[in-house]
Amino acid sequence: MRQTNSIEESLSDRHPNAERVGPHLVIDKTDWVPGKHPDPHRQHESQSEYLERYIRCIQCGVEVLNKDDLPQECGAT
Ligand SMILES: [Zn+2]
Repeated sequence: MRQTNSIEESLSDRHPNAERVGPHLVIDKTDWVPGKHPDPHRQHESQSEYLERYIRCIQCGVEVLNKDDLPQECGAT
């Protein structure tokens, strides 16, 4: 399905992998976080930072670890 909203189109042009989740348009992001991974299975000796996956809404800028944590509303209103 194709949305015709112009703002949305330019956003998804810049972020072809963006996924619509409710009112949000999110992309997967990864970032280095200092410290040991919270999951013991992914920790290792001498680990000083780990790569964390999170999702970011490219419309409202909210960043959460889990899609379930996204706010109900997208945007500043
Ligand atoms: Zn949003």
